Amino acid sequence: MENSLTDEIVETDIAIIGGGSAGITLASKLSEHSAVVIEPKTPAERDACWALWATSDQQAKLQPATKGRWSQWRLVDYEQEIIHNSHEYDYISLSSADYLSACEETLSANVKLVRATAESIKPKGYGGSFSAQGQNYQANYIYDSRPPKAAKEGLKQHFFGLEIRTKSPLTAPDIATLMDFRVDQSRGLHFIYALPYSDREILIESTMISKSLEPEDWYRQAIDQWLDQHGIEIETIVRQESGIIAMHSSLPIDSNLARIGAASGAVRQSSGYAFTNIQSQISQLVAGIEKGEFEVPKPLSSLLNYMDKIFNGVLVAQPHLAVTLMMQTAKSLTPEGFARFMLGQATLFDWIRVILAMPKIPFLRQVFKR
Ligand SMILES: Cc1cc2nc3c(=O)[nH]c(=O)nc-3n(C[C@H](O)[C@H](O)[C@H](O)COP(=O)(O)OP(=O)(O)OC[C@H]3O[C@@H](n4cnc5c(N)ncnc54)[C@H](O)[C@@H]3O)c2cc1C
Repeated sequence: MENSLTDEIVETDIAIIGGGSAGITLASKLSEHSAVVIEPKTPAERDACWALWATSDQQAKLQPATKGRWSQWRLVDYEQEIIHNSHEYDYISLSSADYLSACEETLSANVKLVRATAESIKPKGYGGSFSAQGQNYQANYIYDSRPPKAAKEGLKQHFFGLEIRTKSPLTAPDIATLMDFRVDQSRGLHFIYALPYSDREILIESTMISKSLEPEDWYRQAIDQWLDQHGIEIETIVRQESGIIAMHSSLPIDSNLARIGAASGAVRQSSGYAFTNIQSQISQLVAGIEKGEFEVPKPLSSLLNYMDKIFNGVLVAQPHLAVTLMMQTAKSLTPEGFARFMLGQATLFDWIRVILAMPKIPFLRQVFKR
């Protein structure tokens, strides 16, 4: 009978709960150990835009999942436009469905993908037992990537976006707009994010950084207004996307399990970027596993987490400064420095440039508050 538990227990060395960015990347790099990855959804059901700054080596590896690539990006407010043109990094946008599918297709014969939800997870030592689709499993090591729970009242990045085909060609399809602040700022830090995938296709997202979510119409109105201002008319809506990213420490679903990806704190609290941190965490973990060390490396340094908390503290305490802080950060850095900064890989020199550009009193207040 479907979904009734069988008495037989499948024993495996490694079990990965969740086959998202972290889980399926880990699964795709394992070959020596027996492993199962448990994921209920198909890649198409989870399609989203994942963007990052990538060097040419990374771009080559991610090419099959890449939807768009820009060597120029810009931030705009009512006073200025900052355009970065980098020779070292491109800003790239991946189709998460294509990335996840590519990983699923390269799993070794030792690694099984089970399209189901993991249930009754009981941690024991580094591993434990669980069931999925009526089957019991016992694993020596479990890596849990179930997304952590975001606090209702916490600061978050939330957005609604449309990928559209336009009636006529776009004027600057080679520039990614990371933040256009010329929108309603009355409910929190608000900007339009726009990625032209070609001269007739563009993704436009209305993105907010605040504690409360807005009704869908509100984001949609901001998008329509931005399109109007740019003389862009919609021919067809290709897809729509929305999301919430916590900008605070979130509680893991089960703190007794080893966690990877967002569940381990890989999402940068100040920006929401995580793809590169997850890739690096998983590469280090796999290198460890090959040597018989199964501990999960920390995805972000404590210093970076501390700096992000200070930054977010200033955003909450002095929201009127938010646009200036973002614009000053971009202005103070070279394009490469900005890419490193957003990726969480800033050098000491990058940090000094940013710190010198920031208003000192609000930041010192946050430092002494902690
Ligand atoms: C809307 C959104 C947009 C983002 N955009 C970007 C971006 O542009 N760039 C960037 O760098 N980062 C981005 N991030 C941050 C981060 O890169 C993503 O959240 C990324 O998907 C995190 O990977 P993960 O593997 O930790 O979690 P996920 O990719 O969310 O994977 C977790 C998986 O666990 C599965 N799961 C849940 N419960 C169970 C269960 N009981 N059993 C089995 N499986 C289960 C889920 O189906 C899911 O597939 C974004 C995050 C969000 C939420």
